[in-house]
Amino acid sequence: MKRLKLTYIFKLLKPTKYKENILKENIIETTKHRKEIVRRLKEGKFKLTTADFPDFKLSSAVKNQNIWDVKHLYKNFKKSKSKKENIDFKPNQPLGFSNQCYKIQDNFIALSLYDKKSKRIYFPIETKNKRFKEFQENRDNLKLGKMSIYNKKGNWYAALSVTVKDEKTEATNSMGIDIGLRQLAVISIMNEEGKEINRKFFSGNESGYIRRKYKALRRELGQAKKLKKIKEISNKEQNYIRDKNHKISHKIVELAVQGEVGMIIMENLKNIRNRVKSIKQPDRNINSWTFYQLQNFIEYKAKKEGIKVKYISPKYTSQKCSKCGQVEKKNRKKNLYLCECGNRIHSDLNAARNIASA
Ligand SMILES: [Zn+2]
Repeated sequence: MKRLKLTYIFKLLKPTKYKENILKENIIETTKHRKEIVRRLKEGKFKLTTADFPDFKLSSAVKNQNIWDVKHLYKNFKKSKSKKENIDFKPNQPLGFSNQCYKIQDNFIALSLYDKKSKRIYFPIETKNKRFKEFQENRDNLKLGKMSIYNKKGNWYAALSVTVKDEKTEATNSMGIDIGLRQLAVISIMNEEGKEINRKFFSGNESGYIRRKYKALRRELGQAKKLKKIKEISNKEQNYIRDKNHKISHKIVELAVQGEVGMIIMENLKNIRNRVKSIKQPDRNINSWTFYQLQNFIEYKAKKEGIKVKYISPKYTSQKCSKCGQVEKKNRKKNLYLCECGNRIHSDLNAARNIASA
């Protein structure tokens, strides 16, 4: 993942004379301090701490940052093989603060500065600034770095380095869903390398029982021509299915979110007849309706989570071997898919895997 570095420049509201003098004095002292650090580095003293500079009228925050910055500059100066005798510091050195040593509260910056002793001093930021608004809006997504305070043409500025934090890892796994009767749904979650990282069966046993129960009831009532009662029972069955489909789709999308799924793949079930050809005509309608409903529920719940949904042709999903890719109709015997490559697997899981990798 790419990490983006940015610098925000905030203009400060004109400080009071008192605060401005503190800034100016700290800058004069910083320039002296930086020169002294170079002098010691030239002597080969690299292990410098704030304690090595007790006489400088600077907060330890600024001293620390000076040591850090000057070491860095000195290293580059050495590398550059400059003909200059020494690094030169102009008198307008910025005041540097590590991210531990300043605070941005609302529209104030709190800095540790030296005024007879170290103390925390607040400077208001010019909030009309577009960049500052942008910073406040994005703040949760930014890692704050160093802040430099400097003067340019009489105005005071804070330059803030930030790193934009990594975006939430992009979901790149895919989930294949096989929908049916014996198993209402079988899911397979695949990672980018095509490895299955999760799977789940949603059994159709209970639904099958309910379906048969209502079917028998309807038949009895049909013979007795109790049409009103038949309608009541159908509504009850539909409510049961609807409730079941809500529960399953909820669980499936939950698993998709947990499995960092970016794409859910299902079969386009327009040719549903192939799948349930063993079922008599009046029941087919009920089944295709329940399948569509389950797919619709999954689709809208997935989209709410930002997961894409695509539909593929169901043509070979149940005949193809999910391991070697061979398409062989006779490999599938009811619940078992058995291929000569050695793949021996539940036939609906085999289909779900094929769908996931489609
Ligand atoms: Zn195979």
